[in-house]
Amino acid sequence: MPKFYLTTAIDYSNGDPHLGHALEKVGADCIARYRRLRGDEVHFLMGMDEHAQAVIQAAEQNGFTPQAWVDRMAERFAGFWHRLECSNDDWIRTTEPRHREAVSELLRRIQGRSPDDLYVDDYEGLYCVGCEEFKQPAQIANGRCIEHPTLELVPTRERNHFFRLSRYRDAVLERIRSGQLLVEPAIRRNEVVRVLEDGLQDISVSRHRSSWGIPFPGDSEQTVYVWFDALINYLSATGFPAEGYRRLWPADLHVVGKGITRFHCIIWPAMLLAAGEALPREVWAHGYVQWEGTKMSKTAGTAVTLGDAIERHGPDALRYFLLREVGFESDGNFSWERFDERYTADLADGLGNLASRALAMLAKFRGGLIPTSAEPGGLDEAGTESVRDYTRAMDALDLRGAAEAAWRLVGTANLYIQQTAPWKLAKEGREAELDAALAALGRALHRLAVLATPFMPGKSRNLWHSLGLTGVPDAKAWASLERPPVGGLTTLRPEPLFPKPASV
Ligand SMILES: [Zn+2]
Repeated sequence: MPKFYLTTAIDYSNGDPHLGHALEKVGADCIARYRRLRGDEVHFLMGMDEHAQAVIQAAEQNGFTPQAWVDRMAERFAGFWHRLECSNDDWIRTTEPRHREAVSELLRRIQGRSPDDLYVDDYEGLYCVGCEEFKQPAQIANGRCIEHPTLELVPTRERNHFFRLSRYRDAVLERIRSGQLLVEPAIRRNEVVRVLEDGLQDISVSRHRSSWGIPFPGDSEQTVYVWFDALINYLSATGFPAEGYRRLWPADLHVVGKGITRFHCIIWPAMLLAAGEALPREVWAHGYVQWEGTKMSKTAGTAVTLGDAIERHGPDALRYFLLREVGFESDGNFSWERFDERYTADLADGLGNLASRALAMLAKFRGGLIPTSAEPGGLDEAGTESVRDYTRAMDALDLRGAAEAAWRLVGTANLYIQQTAPWKLAKEGREAELDAALAALGRALHRLAVLATPFMPGKSRNLWHSLGLTGVPDAKAWASLERPPVGGLTTLRPEPLFPKPASV
């Protein structure tokens, strides 16, 4: 079985997770679940970035010690990801001993391999507490960080350890241009290439006398800069530096937001090159969740809480909406109106209606038993096409395209019911045709339960069980998509998959 090691960005422990965090996590989870269906040995990592300076402030304001604060936040984040059925195999926190050891060791390896890659110098610059980063002129607009227009930049001058990032510009550029390090989508790759072509400055990789963080190896006065620390989580979760970490490393896919590509596509590869480690194979940078084309903002009343969004139509519907409507490749819009429309059209009237009609007819005309005798027909061709298009889209991480391909089959199957009118066939005693129609619908539901699994694991499981199948759609189910073995199964008639709420 090929291994597939994928990661999401780890999140700062300052506030609750929002829709942007959720888009990233469910997108990565969708990919993880798809790779498992394809038979890969998936290792899916999520976690928390806990050494930000902002943690000290947040902890103080709320009357906690930093450690007690990050413990609390980690639980809150994990709780949301659990509700959204994220299937991560590991959960790393940068305050864990395994991570602290890996950070120290990676720095020691850089020092050992190329001693002048780390040097001490004075630094003066404008620091954004939101990004935990010194900002370059191109990242500043109206005197503020582009990503954090409401925060003041902090003029900072201190003596730090520096990483000779400039030395790795050509090597990183070459890896990206040759595709050895894939940066997707192309718009993000082009941005990264432009930054590299403009040249790189060395970066400060420690902070002076910070009470919160990992001590810099060999210098008790300095702590490791939070980004340098955080990026290493992907490696520490493999067990690095212990024997056997190469079973997972290099990562096959880092899923991150478009605002942190500089760290993942430039600084992180340079760190790994300096330490003599293999580079990740791919970085995928998703866009932001917006409200009518602008950034969600609490002050403008356009901030949607993740809890409210989950409650609206349940976790599976939110997963589906984020990946189908908001999208995983560029910025996309969230609105309650659009969410309700999608819920009604695609889920309640779409997949939900299809399932309840097909299962009702199976119950009424065949006592729930899916007929065995029928030959594949027109609906099977549509099913095969959907599977093919879905696979092609998923392999290209086009999650929206994959959902579209699956839901085309929903539309075709609902139309098939109208056209074949099984109730008429029953009335006229055309038993062979009725068997053929009901069996074709059974196969369509089987295919849809499998294809929908990465998007809505809970509802797919329900659909799977209503077909009289046990467990969950897995690699064996995927392998049977060409000719779903549903003949002879006894179906059930469960509650509607997607009940219509009174307000919609
Ligand atoms: Zn910022």
